[in-house]
Parts: sequence; C-alpha cells; structure tokens
Amino acid sequence: MQPQAQIEEIEDGERLAALDRYDILDTPQEEGFDRITRLTRRIFDVPMSTITLIDGHRQWFKSRSGVEACETPRGPALCSFAMREPQGLVLPDTLVDTRFSSNPFVLGPPHIRFYAGVPLRTPQGLSIGTLCAMDTRPRPFRDDEVETLADLSHIVMSELELRRVAMTDSLTGALSRRAFRDECGRTLALALRHRHPMSCIMLDLDHFKSVNDRHGHPVGDQVLAEMAAVCRAELRTSDAFGRVGGEEFAVLLPLSDLAAAMTVAEKLRAAIARLSVPTPDGPLRLTASFGVAALDPTVTDLDGLLRNADAALYAAKAEGRNRCVACRPAPVPPQVVRRRVLKAGQISFNGGRSVIDCTVRSLSDDGAGLKVVSSIGVPETFKLAIAADQFSRLCRIVLKTEGHLDVVFV
Ligand code: GH3
Ligand code: MG
Ligand code: MG
Repeated sequence: MQPQAQIEEIEDGERLAALDRYDILDTPQEEGFDRITRLTRRIFDVPMSTITLIDGHRQWFKSRSGVEACETPRGPALCSFAMREPQGLVLPDTLVDTRFSSNPFVLGPPHIRFYAGVPLRTPQGLSIGTLCAMDTRPRPFRDDEVETLADLSHIVMSELELRRVAMTDSLTGALSRRAFRDECGRTLALALRHRHPMSCIMLDLDHFKSVNDRHGHPVGDQVLAEMAAVCRAELRTSDAFGRVGGEEFAVLLPLSDLAAAMTVAEKLRAAIARLSVPTPDGPLRLTASFGVAALDPTVTDLDGLLRNADAALYAAKAEGRNRCVACRPAPVPPQVVRRRVLKAGQISFNGGRSVIDCTVRSLSDDGAGLKVVSSIGVPETFKLAIAADQFSRLCRIVLKTEGHLDVVFV
C-alpha cells in the first residue's frame, strides 16, 4: 500500500491540474464572484467571506469580502483543511478546538473565532478550494446553514465552469480566438517588460477542404478534434494553444526563441503526420503547414508577431506544405542614418607608406561607405583621410565586398 503522504501528493497533483484548467489564479476581482461573497456575508450575518483557491503553496482569494490580504501561506490556512472535508468544516469556536486554537489566523489577524467552509468541487469531484464564512466572534452554525453555504458553493462552481467554457472551443478544447489573444497579450507584456524571448507558431491543415468533401463534415470535425489533442499532448502547459480560424491554430510559446519554437513546430508537424484517424472509408492521414515567428527588435506587438507567423505559414504552403518555415527577422535598421556624400578620400596604412585612393559615398559620425578600385590588400584597420574636410580617422572594416568597404570609426 502506498503511504498516506504519497497518496495525498498524487491527489494534490490532480487537484492542481484541475485548478489550472480554470486559469483563474491571479486574475482580477470579478463582480460575479464578489456578489457571492457579499451574499454569503449577508445571509449568515458574518463580517468576512472568501472564495478561496488552494494553490500549491498558498491560498489565494478570487473574491474577499471583509478580508484584507489577497493571499496567505497555505500551511495554516483553515480553507486548506476545509477543502479536504467532504461536508466542509464548521468551527463554532476555534479557540476550543485543539487543532486550530494556536493557528496564526486565529491568534493573529484576521482573528478567526468562527469558521465555516465548504469545498469547491469540480464536476469530476476534485476539490480546488472553498467558499467560507468567518467571524471574529464564536457562533453556532446549523445543518441547514451548511446546506445553504453548499448551495452557494455550487453557484461559484457554475460561474467558474461558465468562464472556462467561454474560453475554450468546444470541438477541439483549444482556447477560443478571443481567449487566445487575451492570453497572448498578458504573456507579451511580461516578455517585453523582462526582455524574455517569446515565439508564436501558426499552423493550418493541408488540403482540409478535400477531407470534408471526401468524407463529410462530421469526419472533418473528428479530424480537427484528434489533431488538436495530438498538439496539446506535445505542448507544455505553459504554452497557449488557440483555434484562430476554422482549421487554423496558433501556439504561443513563452520564454522560447525562434530556434526553440522551430523545434516545437517540427515536433507538432511530425506528430500530425503520424496521426491516423479511423473513418468508415479506412484510416485517414493528414499533414499541416507551420509558420514560426519570434519577438525581435522590429516586432513589439501582438499583431506584428502574428502577422510574421502568418507570412511564414503562407511561405510554407507555397513551398509545398507539410513543413515548418521560420520568419527571418528583418535586418535591424542602422541606428544612425548615413548622409550620402561624394568625396575624395585616401586610405593609408603601413605607417603611411601605403596609400589607396577611394571615394567616400556615405558618412556618419560612426562610420563610412567607401568605393575603391579593388578591396584586395586593404587591411582590417587603416586611416581614412578626406582632405577637403581636413578629416582623418582610424577605421575598422565591418563589410568588405569587391570594390566596396563599409567601415566604423574606432
Ligand atoms: P490549404 O492546404 O491551402 O490550407 O487547403 P485547405 O483546403 O485546407 O484550405 P481552405 O482554407 O481553402 O479550406 C479550409 C477548409 O476547412 C474549408 C472549411 O470547410 C473547413 N473547415 C473550417 N472549419 C471547419 C470545421 O469546424 N469543421 C470542418 N469539418 N471543416 C471546417
Ligand atoms: Mg485555412
Ligand atoms: Mg488549410
């Protein structure tokens, strides 16, 4: 038999995965939930009520009425105990209960003397937190009051379920277009603030219209659902997977540069190509094309990133489908704009013993573009003089082609 601690750890893992699917932790206060805690206070005539979600290390309040903190450590949290009680936890007087009489939230703020909390249970029966009522004075709590609190907890869960369903596409379980954009917006803000890399993959099934035409729409739907499941299995839970069009999906990869995102895209491509969907007409195979783009100095907004990934996807289609194409970042425009000039210059090196004539074609404070008859034999560094300007600077070559030198001043 497994030790109790191990069983609890496995249960907690499942519970946290269920909590994660609601994508609710650290979201702003919402009126729909605040109404329930206000109602709880009024019904039971208590000064405090919270909708508490139990994260791995903390209790976090989706709604709090009469409570200051927005989160506290999980260890001593009464809600963490209540969550595990099938019928909830009722403590008419915490000071006379040996389990809680020295609890920091009983002895210190918010000085909980009365506590009643019922679990928030998912449709699969996993407990993700509680709805609770609290008072600074002891008080009794009848069975019918526990039932009322349980009814209110069901309303909290319906609200959470509605929120989750609105976010996801029912056929594929992928984020809806709107939810995907919201999610991307949040991730992008973080990436820009902390200068983290971030990438996006766009994918579109190849010749999908012919799947519908040949096998009918319901089979097409089944293919979409299976293909989305394959993608989700390959991705990390921190990646956002959205359905952005009929048979077009997008993946947002936080903390991934272009090379990392290309590896992921290739993995997805191979997984889809391996997929075999059973149909009445026999197994059906399919492929998809992928466009990949990363944040770079020229792309700093979501639309730019999605546009680049889309352009790369278009290229993947044009190049023959069933492939991944990366959007090569446009070269960063030079920081300093050079003036176009036409001046006679002299390149000298070898302690002034070697001199080559040149034409200066562009000039800035940092460098110049030079034309020479031949670039052969010109060393990496030399002195450039423009007699007409009484100009003389030491230069280093950054680009050398036949007849042309691009230099920076050192
Ligand atoms: P390409 O390789 O160029 O992408 O070819 P394609 O046939 O996949 O491209 P096109 O965009 O012309 O066709 C997309 C098809 O996807 C047309 C549409 O009927 C089908 N489709 C879009 N949404 C759904 C859906 O929800 N279910 C089903 N079964 N088909 C869908
Ligand atoms: Mg399409
Ligand atoms: Mg298509």
